[in-house]
Formats: sequence, structure tokens, C-alpha cells
Amino acid sequence: MKHKDKYIIFGIIALLFLVILFIFFYNSSPQEVKPRIEDKFPDVEEMHFSKLPITYSINLSFEKTRVEYFIQEAGRYERIQDIKKAFQIIEDSTDGVVYFEEVNEGENPDIMIKGLSPTIFEVVAATVNVSDSIWGFALRNNVSNIIANSSVYLLPIQTYSDEYSWVYGRCTNFPLIDVHEILHTFGFGHVFDSSNRVMFPLYPGLTCNVLEIDEKIINCLKKIYSNGQIEGDCSELNIYPYEIEEQKLFTDDFAWKEIPVNYSILNCSKNEIVRINYAISVFEDRFGRKFFNYRENYPTQVNFICKEDAKEELISANTHYWKGTTSVAINGEYMFVNGNISRVDINFVFYEKCANKPVELTQYEMLGVYSASGLQRTYGGDTYFPSSECNLLTTSSTTWDRIRELYS
Ligand SMILES: [Zn+2]
Repeated sequence: MKHKDKYIIFGIIALLFLVILFIFFYNSSPQEVKPRIEDKFPDVEEMHFSKLPITYSINLSFEKTRVEYFIQEAGRYERIQDIKKAFQIIEDSTDGVVYFEEVNEGENPDIMIKGLSPTIFEVVAATVNVSDSIWGFALRNNVSNIIANSSVYLLPIQTYSDEYSWVYGRCTNFPLIDVHEILHTFGFGHVFDSSNRVMFPLYPGLTCNVLEIDEKIINCLKKIYSNGQIEGDCSELNIYPYEIEEQKLFTDDFAWKEIPVNYSILNCSKNEIVRINYAISVFEDRFGRKFFNYRENYPTQVNFICKEDAKEELISANTHYWKGTTSVAINGEYMFVNGNISRVDINFVFYEKCANKPVELTQYEMLGVYSASGLQRTYGGDTYFPSSECNLLTTSSTTWDRIRELYS
């Protein structure tokens, strides 16, 4: 046999081997095992559940591994009603185009709503892209643009008495946390331009100013779940894959490069002005030198502004709430130039809560002055939530250890 023939025979054998190998592997992954999901909305490109009704199941109970906290089980029923109401709101808002059915947990629901133990939350949340801090988060398992299944994890919230409660932080008129998290499972991401929009992130805190789902989200849902029959536009929305990046909210303490800084007071009553100035004098006494210089002409470096309500406030990680509520007490806005603080607006909101109190130092003004001086985190008792008792408070030493550290 010639050399050339040997190569040809070898080539044929190798080819046959490859064909056998191909047939073997092709047959060993039969497609019947993974049936293709039948998509009822094949004409829409946006991410969607494959059919209607979208099924859900709720289970807010979980195993306690250790008794580390006390959960007020009493609130669980109310919270489950909130979640059901949230599904109803989405259904009603879309005129029934999107509709849901509650099923048992074992029936492979499209959306599973679960309660999560506060102790394991940190671990799980670290692996999630879109998380809403202490309130909850959503996970979505999608195959291309079809949502295979999804879960919402909700957390009981720690109350001031150190217990955990399912009802704390509820917005009774509109169950914001639940509507927000359910919309995450549809693929809607966060928006950052207004705290009054349902998809504003919940991690900076919560206000109950939101009372409806944005018209744009409703129109988009109607378009998707009518398979494009109802006219709608999803293009301006932040839908997965997200184009708007998650914003990192500023939470670090800062120090002014030079003191004293100029300050002004805007829209405040006579009593309010006296109290703000009193808080400043208490601050300076303890600081040991002049920190704030009053100027008539707004805006200055620090501006204390009294406001009637929080409707226009863009809340952040540095928003302070009235103790035990989700209504804004003090909201700081911080502007930086080249990494240095250049301007601070301290918005005192719902100031009339303290209006009838005698003119004396309250924690409320003190907290505003601390925020203006650079404290963004909580240290001692006087940097915690202000209460509407507007009580007189002594300044705490842990707070002052931090201020001295910032200005050493
Ligand atoms: Zn969110």
C-alpha cells in the first residue's frame, strides 16, 4: 500500500468517528427534556412573563435558626394583605391587562414572595444587583427575554423597641415596598430623578409620598401583555438589561477645608430662627471656636431652609426621618467641587411639629447643625432620629469624638 492511500483511509476513519460522536451527543441531549417555554407575547422584545395570569404565592414565615430577635408575628397577616393589595393595584392600574392568580407554593409560581430572616439577609443581598437594603429585594431568573420565575424577599424591620415587625414602615394608602419589589420582578429597574416615583430606590429610606404607578410603566405593561395590540412605549424606561447605573449615594462624613463657613436662614419663622441660632451657639461652645458666620444673602455655604412639606425632597442616605415614621424631618443636600464640600442645604421639614414648644435647644436643630458641620452618620443619641416631642437634649460625647476627629 502506498503512503498516500494510508492517509486517505485514516482520514475516512477519523471522519466516521466524528460523525458517530456527533450523532451520539446530539441524541443524548434530547430536546423533549427541556420543553421550550410557550411565549404568549412573541411580538414584544422587552422582558416579560410568558403567559397570563401571572401566578404568585406568598410565604412570610421562615425558620429561625437561633432566637436572636423577636418578631411581632401579629403584623404578618396585615403585611400579606398589603402584598395582595399590591398585586391588585398593578392589575387595576393596567385596566386588567396584567392579571394575577394566587397559587400554592408547590405549584411553581411565577413570582414567589418570601419572608427573609434579618440574620441571613446581609449574605444573600450581597449577591444581588438590585437590592433595596433593609426593605427587601427581588431576584429574577430569565431565559433571554422571558422571565422563567422570580422571587421577592421581604424583611421584617427592626423597630425602636429592638423587635422586628412586618408592619413597620408600611405605607397604608399605597403599599410601596410591595408594589416596588413586584415591579422589579417584571424587569423594571431603579429611577433616580424623584422620590415620588414608584421605582425610586428604597435603600436611602422610605417616604410614603408615592400614591400610584407611573403612567409610563403602566403603558409599557399594557403594550407588553397585549402582545403589542395596545399602543405603548417602553423605550424611556429603565428595563433590564439596565442602562441607568445604580447610583452610589454619598454617606461619608466630610470636613470643611476652612472655617468659619458662611450660613443663611431661609423661610423660617422667628422662633425657628432663634432655635437654629441657639443650636449653632451650643455647637460652637463645645467646638471651642467660631464655626458659622451669618450672612443675609442666600445662597451661602450652609443654608438652613424651612419647608412646609417633603413632597419635593429628593431623599438620600442622609435623610433624617421623624422617629418611628417614614416622614422626612431633615433632608440635607450636599454639593461637592473636586471632592471638596462646597455647599450644604439643610431642609427642615414639617417644622411646625416643634412650633408650640418653648424656645430652647431641641435635638431637631442640633441634628441639622451637625449635618451642616460634616456628620453624615449616626454616633451618639443626638444624631439619631428626631422625635416630635422636640425634646431638649444634651450633646453626646461619641458625637463630639467624631467631630474633633474630623477637625483635628
Ligand atoms: Zn428597588
